[in-house]
Amino acid sequence: MTKTRKDFRRKFIGNHRLSPESQMMGYGYDPMLSEGALKPPVFMTSTFVFESAKAGKDFFELAYGKRQAAEGEEPGLIYSRINNPDLEVLEDRLALWEDAEKGLTFSSGMAAISTCLWAYLRPGDVIVHSAPVYGGTEYLIRNILPAFGIQSVEFEAGGDEATLAPAIEQAKKLGRVAVIYTETPANPTNDLVDLHMCRDLADKLGEEQGHRPVVMTDNTFLGPLWQKPLSHGADIVIYSLTKYVAGHSDVVAGGAVGAADVMAPVAGFRTILGTMCDPHTGWLIMRSLETLKIRMTESANNARKIAEYLRDHPKVSKVHYLGFLEESDPCYSIFQEQCGGAAGSTFAFDVDGDEAAAFRVLDNLSIIKLAVSLGGTESLMEHPFAMTHSDVPDDVKNRLGITESMLRISVGIENVDDLIADLSQALDSI
Ligand SMILES: *Cc1c(COP(=O)(O)O)cnc(C)c1O
Repeated sequence: MTKTRKDFRRKFIGNHRLSPESQMMGYGYDPMLSEGALKPPVFMTSTFVFESAKAGKDFFELAYGKRQAAEGEEPGLIYSRINNPDLEVLEDRLALWEDAEKGLTFSSGMAAISTCLWAYLRPGDVIVHSAPVYGGTEYLIRNILPAFGIQSVEFEAGGDEATLAPAIEQAKKLGRVAVIYTETPANPTNDLVDLHMCRDLADKLGEEQGHRPVVMTDNTFLGPLWQKPLSHGADIVIYSLTKYVAGHSDVVAGGAVGAADVMAPVAGFRTILGTMCDPHTGWLIMRSLETLKIRMTESANNARKIAEYLRDHPKVSKVHYLGFLEESDPCYSIFQEQCGGAAGSTFAFDVDGDEAAAFRVLDNLSIIKLAVSLGGTESLMEHPFAMTHSDVPDDVKNRLGITESMLRISVGIENVDDLIADLSQALDSI
């Protein structure tokens, strides 16, 4: 009754370890369970029929943690808020990119972030977080969590222990530090956070407090291809799958991966909050995962050429592109160590002038679309100060270097000469 899908979770051929890009086409799925269909069907069903009353009882006992799984036993399918075949296959595949034990998918990146935080924060706790973070995350931490008795202390991305350690000292005075939350590279400045440093400070705090904070990292910008935070000290890696992973700007979804015991409370909260992904979206993301590597690689190649073009442009004063980090920059060594020197394809640049100049560039774009979001096949541009980071108080934006002359570009997979021609004529409008 309980199926083992061991053969369909092949990680090796003999001694040869398979790469995720190969595993995306088959891992975790048994065609013989679905009439031989090569691709997983979309399981558009809210509920699942039990073969017997005993089977139903067994499934529930396992799902609600009333007993441990027997050797080789897989959780049975019960109800699509708890599990669904499309999501199970997708979650197995998502975990492969970071060699994680467990992956979970959510209805949005924010659903992933909020469910992970809710699973680990309690009234009286404090969250220490890097800044800047995604606008929605910032709003959740600044405006919503305090109503539940959760305070926060921020530290600036791009610094060393001298920036994080004082934030932790301040947080300790406020309460139990339960989460160290990071976003690296930070949106939109591309400042980096050293995850080894976060892990070491979490270990130290664990000894002092008798409760080790969980290190969470939003890996939307460089993951899962270029940056693998679990191997650098993160406990939970979070994604807006809406961006590079789904990659076609046609779905909203989120993900999180980590060790099985760390993810278990998150899975429990997801079931009760109802923040899971739906089967159709899950199916689309499985399709996207098959081309993830070639999409991310091509957009990163395009991005390098565009960053170089902008660097030499007389009307551009600064390009915040990771590939241009100077060796003297504290982020340089983090970039080499943590990102393998991969610069990704979303970055900001400052034009000469004010908001009006920046807006003129956006209003004169031709094939590059004026829209928020990132990581799709098409190139998008936006104005972080007035758009994605509109909610962030002006003084915070100014301190973090998010100015009114800053534009953000997410470079897609179009022909790069066409993109440069578009930028060239748009910049002529300043
Ligand atoms: C878009 C984004 C989110 C939020 O994801 P949604 O899928 O829009 O909910 C979180 N973090 C980062 C870095 C993002 O870019």
